[in-house]
Amino acid sequence: MSRSEELFQKAQLSIPGGVNSPVRAFNGVGGSPIFIERAEGAYMFDADGKRYIDYVGSWGPMILGHNNPAVLDATIAAAQRGLSFGTPTEVEITMAEKIKDIVPSIEKVRMVNSGTEATMTAIRLARGYTKRDKILKFEGNYHGHADALLVKAGSGALTLGVPNSPGIPEDFAKHTLTVDYNNIDSVKAIFEEVGDQIACIIVEPVAGNMNCIPPVPGFLEGLREICDQYGSILIFDEVMSGFRAAPGGAQERYGVTPDLTTLGKVIGGGMPVGAFGGKKEVMGYIAPTGPVYQAGTLSGNPVAMSAGLAALSQLNKPGLYDQLYARVDQLLDGMQALADEAGIPFTTNRAGSMFGFFFTTDKQVTTYQQATQCNMEHFRRFYHLMLEQGVYLAPSAFEGGFMSAAHSEQDINDTLAAAAKAFAALAA
Ligand code: PLP
Repeated sequence: MSRSEELFQKAQLSIPGGVNSPVRAFNGVGGSPIFIERAEGAYMFDADGKRYIDYVGSWGPMILGHNNPAVLDATIAAAQRGLSFGTPTEVEITMAEKIKDIVPSIEKVRMVNSGTEATMTAIRLARGYTKRDKILKFEGNYHGHADALLVKAGSGALTLGVPNSPGIPEDFAKHTLTVDYNNIDSVKAIFEEVGDQIACIIVEPVAGNMNCIPPVPGFLEGLREICDQYGSILIFDEVMSGFRAAPGGAQERYGVTPDLTTLGKVIGGGMPVGAFGGKKEVMGYIAPTGPVYQAGTLSGNPVAMSAGLAALSQLNKPGLYDQLYARVDQLLDGMQALADEAGIPFTTNRAGSMFGFFFTTDKQVTTYQQATQCNMEHFRRFYHLMLEQGVYLAPSAFEGGFMSAAHSEQDINDTLAAAAKAFAALAA
């Protein structure tokens, strides 16, 4: 038995399912999860000492690669000055200014501890500001695990097959309207019925929790128009796409400006951080300036802020994003060619440093239905064949992949060599 298997058995005695977040349990691919001991650059090393080229990057944050020296130094230096004060600190101002600088639609920003907190509060704020109860989301979009948002959600909720979790009163969920992603007509139709009761549309502007599905042309623009027409707030949940779809997120990549943006993952540099921000006028409604309540004992924590700031401060390095995009192209174009050669039905999606691949005969995947109808057996086998060869992909067909600045051309070539063997095995 491997050390990871041993640890998984032990973990299950004390932790529900042996994990502190469901997708880590490998339910989507079968088998036992690997336990990681340390990580460096593009690599993670498991409890058995095996090295993996990592395309999960802690589910997105590690855009600079693991253990980035400047992030590490800033974190240690901040920790030495004290772990938490529960008072305002200067680093919070620097962080807010940095976020505003990179994401210009954000005029004011509030720091929280997770993406879930960010989306939960953004929705409360939209409801408080508009004095309306209903919200609109998209099937297969995941916005964290707050009650109102865990309705027809993606990510682990998809893998587990329980998109509507028990424990959420129907009375809460009834205010959450759900329509098809990338289908502007379904949004128009519902707004024609109850548009004057809808506080906000919340959307992943690049869907990353039903695998990676970028917006089709006109979709985000259509959402903007509808929100303007009906006086609803447009929330871009950029917890995943922020700093990844482009430096300024999907809003920069696609040129559509939301009223509110939620952020997470990359802004913490690996520490637990989330944020929501946007128009001054709307953000003025949050406590203490406004009546909508939100708070946090550890919000804006100095160690987390210092780590995040050190990460964000490196993103303007010349050529960094060009390199990320080039590596994604190299990986996906390479995988497509290998799959075609092996005769395996396969297609890919990409948006900046986010990517996805699908075992399907469809030429392009743009909908939730298509993502869920892919060949799961091919995915599971491919997953384990890659894992055996030291390539760590997200252990679910409903999660995207993440490139980091630490991935070298050689890492991609090594990944493609492993993929060639995996596709050949699938074809055999
Ligand atoms: N929103 C999106 C788009 C996400 O991808 C996630 C997490 O994967 C969340 C919100 C929730 O963030 P967290 O897991 O930090 O609570």
